[in-house]
Amino acid sequence: MTSIQNAVEDEFGDVDRLAIYNLLPSTSPSAVLPLGAIVAIKEPYYKRTADGGLFVRVDHPTDFVPLKPGNSIIPSSLAARITKKSTSALRLKECGNSAFKSGDFETAADFYSDALEVAGQGEDELKQDLHRNRAAANLRIGRYDLAITDALASLLPPGNTSETTRSVNIKALYRAGKAAYEMQDFNQAKRYFDQALELDGGHKEARAEIARTVKRISEQENGHYNFVVMAKSATMQHSQLDHSSFLRRTKVSQTDNRGRGLFSTERLVPGDIVFVEKAFNVAHRDGENISVLLNLNTDRISLGTHNLRLYGTIDKIIWNPTFAKNYLDLFDGGKFKREEEPKVIDGRVIVDTFQVQSIAELNGFGCPRVKSRDESDTNEKSLDHETSTGIWLQASYANHSCLPNVTRAFIGDMMIVHAVRDIPAGGEIFMGYLSPDIPFAERTKRLNDHYGFRCHCDLCQAEAEVPKVAVEKRARLSKEIKLFLSTNRLNSNDIGMIPGAKKARARQLLVEIRETYPKALFEQLPRLQCVEIGLWVAQSAMVKPQYALGKFIDVLRDLGYFVTIKGRNVTVDRRGAVQRVHAVHAAMYAAQCLAAIGNEGAALALESFGKGVFIAISGSEDGFAVEFGRS
Ligand SMILES: [Zn+2]
Repeated sequence: MTSIQNAVEDEFGDVDRLAIYNLLPSTSPSAVLPLGAIVAIKEPYYKRTADGGLFVRVDHPTDFVPLKPGNSIIPSSLAARITKKSTSALRLKECGNSAFKSGDFETAADFYSDALEVAGQGEDELKQDLHRNRAAANLRIGRYDLAITDALASLLPPGNTSETTRSVNIKALYRAGKAAYEMQDFNQAKRYFDQALELDGGHKEARAEIARTVKRISEQENGHYNFVVMAKSATMQHSQLDHSSFLRRTKVSQTDNRGRGLFSTERLVPGDIVFVEKAFNVAHRDGENISVLLNLNTDRISLGTHNLRLYGTIDKIIWNPTFAKNYLDLFDGGKFKREEEPKVIDGRVIVDTFQVQSIAELNGFGCPRVKSRDESDTNEKSLDHETSTGIWLQASYANHSCLPNVTRAFIGDMMIVHAVRDIPAGGEIFMGYLSPDIPFAERTKRLNDHYGFRCHCDLCQAEAEVPKVAVEKRARLSKEIKLFLSTNRLNSNDIGMIPGAKKARARQLLVEIRETYPKALFEQLPRLQCVEIGLWVAQSAMVKPQYALGKFIDVLRDLGYFVTIKGRNVTVDRRGAVQRVHAVHAAMYAAQCLAAIGNEGAALALESFGKGVFIAISGSEDGFAVEFGRS
């Protein structure tokens, strides 16, 4: 909804308003449209304004190109107004250095580029300095591809062994290493740091960077993370974590009828890490500001962080062809022209904002501000939408199922994905785009409207056959249950005092809602609307542990876990399992009941099962003992 605007004049003296959209909110208007600047606009068009006038509208940031004096496409009448200052490359370099010192890295990079343009023959040393300095500036403003190219262009021939040569080459290699690290290309980063260290074994920074890079490589190859430490390190201020992705157990392949999909490369059992992925981009709410994205192509408006995600992604891919290629390879809905390689002009990737947005809409994930199941986050969650949104490239390839075989959790910008069920080597990995709690008809409509497909998972197939009268009855009962639960909150201290009539009412509601799931259809499937009332019934019966135990096992069955207890042995069949915190509650209470009746062995087994579900939905066991430890 917001744009940067100014008045512009063409070569005939006609004046119009110009509005540039889809720039990061932090962009300074005077930096984009400074007074007297000459700009080119590709494919300009007029848009009517609210006040009845017209303006020239730019939607795609690379459709707007500032022109430097001397550019041959500037009409002569305009060219006459600006004079090309003849400044030496050395002077421009000094301007760049002073901009760099004042923290204006973008301007610094511009000065170095100007200097490189005017630097003549015989100024090789100066050119190398300029490339090296521009590498440092590019590194600071996230233009990593360019930073590496510049760093390598600045390297002096290795034959020259003078102290100065050595010292500047170390700087260049160090910068190339840092840029490769930021691009998550850790093996390449390590090679650059190693080369820097070869030139000076005592280089402390390079040594520290190698130690850090080796950790990233180990995460990437072995999936060795300390998730508890990771969870403790994530905070509101620090949610972009210094970790790498572990993707070795998955690969992207073609499916029979769903386009591309994500597949496992090895056999996985429940609780196994399937993959761990660092976000491509995450957008968090901007303080109290309300952000609105108006999509003129789909006539949709979204509140929240979608616009920040869009601008952040554009900003990231415009200057990094490698990132652009990875991002633009995702499914965009099929309405856009696709290039094999991103088109790059003057170092910038030509970006279609609408394609970037379409990809984000089809592939984005809602995520918590800091981490999954973060208690401090509950206030914001009550707004009924996730507080942040992001893009995880590998996860984007997973197709949807209402009964996914993996569960995702978030710690900072890391997505941690665990297996729910057995997944054979080569088996397809399914994630949930929408919660199976959403009633079938609405879920089907939303999947179709937003993603353009119909789900054929076991749950949807069963739901499609439920008689209409049962569907209506379930909807009505769900409302009654919600009301009952909100007016009858359980307090563990006075469970023995609950009036019998209330307990009877709860049991009645549970029996009735279970009946809305026809036995023949749901024999192996979860019955999610029974879970919360089921937990209430079970908890309110805790004074009779043997009886309550059966009720908790029923709750687990409603969640799709078929639990059998034989003596001290517990087996859990997860064929219909849906991973929810309710499963942790039910398992831990069932363990308490088992302990109360003297079956400590089965109690421990159920506790360990509950802990497994907790880890899958939280990303780590951090907080488990505090929340669920047996008192
Ligand atoms: Zn489904």
